[in-house]
Amino acid sequence: MEIVRSHRQLAAAAGGGGGGQGALPTYRTAPQLEVRLEEFELFAIDRLRVLKGISDGLSRGKKPQEMEKLVSELWKTHMRHQDPAENLNKDIISHFVLRLVYCRTEELRKWFLSMETTLFRYRFRIESPESQRMLMTEFQLPYKALPHSEFEAVKDKLTQVARSMGQSASVESVFFKVPFQEVPDLVASRRVYLSKGYAYVAMSQVVSLVVTQFRCNISKALVLTNRKWTATIKEQEKDRLTPIVEALSNAYFGPDYSQPKDAAEISLKDIDQLAASSFPLCMRHMLDKLRENHHLKHGGRMQFGLFLKGAGLKLEDALAFWRAEFSQKVGSERFDKEYAYSIRHNYGKEGKRTDYTPYSCQKIISATPGVGDHHGCPYRHFGEENLRAALNRMGVSGHALEEIMDKVKNRHYQLACTLTFEATHGVSCDSGINHPNQYFSESQKILRAKNQTVENRSAT
Ligand code: SF4
Repeated sequence: MEIVRSHRQLAAAAGGGGGGQGALPTYRTAPQLEVRLEEFELFAIDRLRVLKGISDGLSRGKKPQEMEKLVSELWKTHMRHQDPAENLNKDIISHFVLRLVYCRTEELRKWFLSMETTLFRYRFRIESPESQRMLMTEFQLPYKALPHSEFEAVKDKLTQVARSMGQSASVESVFFKVPFQEVPDLVASRRVYLSKGYAYVAMSQVVSLVVTQFRCNISKALVLTNRKWTATIKEQEKDRLTPIVEALSNAYFGPDYSQPKDAAEISLKDIDQLAASSFPLCMRHMLDKLRENHHLKHGGRMQFGLFLKGAGLKLEDALAFWRAEFSQKVGSERFDKEYAYSIRHNYGKEGKRTDYTPYSCQKIISATPGVGDHHGCPYRHFGEENLRAALNRMGVSGHALEEIMDKVKNRHYQLACTLTFEATHGVSCDSGINHPNQYFSESQKILRAKNQTVENRSAT
C-alpha cells in the first residue's frame, strides 16, 4: 500500500500548513489516504517518543524555557523524515494513528489531549506572526482586533498590566477582546486586563486563544473517534490494525527486559533478600501477598512471574518457587495440572513459544486490578494510608515521604517511584524509573558498587 496523496493535498485536507515556514497542522479532519502498515506503526512510535518525552519533562517540573528547548529537540530527533518533503505527512499520519490508539479510555484520552496540546503550544510559539494569524483564521476565531478608539480608552489599564508583568512601558498595539473563560491560563496567571467579563489579549498572547480552540477540537474528536472505533473499526480491523493499536498504548520505549541483564541469575534462596534490597514496591507487594496467601491471581502471576524471569530466575527455579507456595494452598498435583503450564508458557516453552516480555511501568499503571488482585502499581492503585504504610516499611519517611505523596496526588506515579528509589538508595536516578526490571538492575548495580568499595577499603 502506498500513500496516495501528495504532501500538499494531504496537508490541506488535514488542516496542515497555516502558511509560514513552520507548516503547523491543525488536524481538523482525517485525510483520506493509504498508508503502508509499517509506516502506520513507525510514525506513531516516533510521535509517541515525543509525547512521552514531554510527559517526562513536565513531571520533572521543567520550566517553560526548558520545555521549549526539550520539545524542539524531541521534534528534531524523532519527527524528521529522511525525505524532508514527507515531514508534514509524517506529522499528520502519526497524529491520527495515535488518536485511534488513545481514544479508547478516559484516561488515555486525557493523557493524549494534554500532551498534544502542550506540543501544539510550543510549536505555535515558534511560528512566524504571519503564520500565527493564518492559524487564527483557520481556527475561525471570531475575534477582531480592538478598534483604535476602544484601544485608546483602555490603554492605561493595558500598560499597567504590562508593567506588572515586568514589560516595558510601551504597550503592544494589537489586542483582542475575548470572553475571559476562553483564556483560563492568562486569567489564572493575571496576565490580562479584565473588564465586564472580557479579557484583553495581546497579539503576543494569542497562543492561549488558539490552544484553547485546539484543545477543544481534539477533545471532541477523540470522543467521536472512540465511538467509531467501538462501533465499527475495532471489529473490521481485528486482524490488521486492532492488534497494532492495542499494542501501541502499552508501548514501552526503553531497553528490552525479556532476558536478564548481563546474563545475571538470581537463585531461589536469595529472593527474599533481593526483594528487601532491590525490588520495586509493586513486586515487593506481590511477593508479600504470595507468601501470605500462597496464591496470586492470573494478573499477579503474569506481572510478578515475568518480572522474576527478567531479573534472572531460571525456569526450573521459577517452577520450584511457585510450586512451593501454591502447593500449600491447592496441593502439588493441582499445581502441576493447572498452574505449571502458564509458567512454562511465560518462558516460551508452551503454546506459541513466544518469549514473553516483562511488563513496563506504563502497562502496569494502566491495569485495572479487581477485588482480590494484587498486581498493578501501588502508587496508582493503593489508598493513601496503605501507600504511606508500605513506604514506611521500606524505610521512607519525613520530607522524602511527603514529596512522594505529592507526586502521587498529581498522578506522577513513575516519578514517585523514582523518588522512592532515590530515598532508599541514597543516589539520584536521572533516567527516572520506567520499568520494574530497570529498578531492579539499577539497584543491583549500585549495591554491587557499594560492596566493592567496602571490600577494597578492607583490603587496604
Ligand atoms: Fe512498579 Fe513501575 Fe509502579 Fe514503580 S512505578 S511500583 S516499578 S509499576
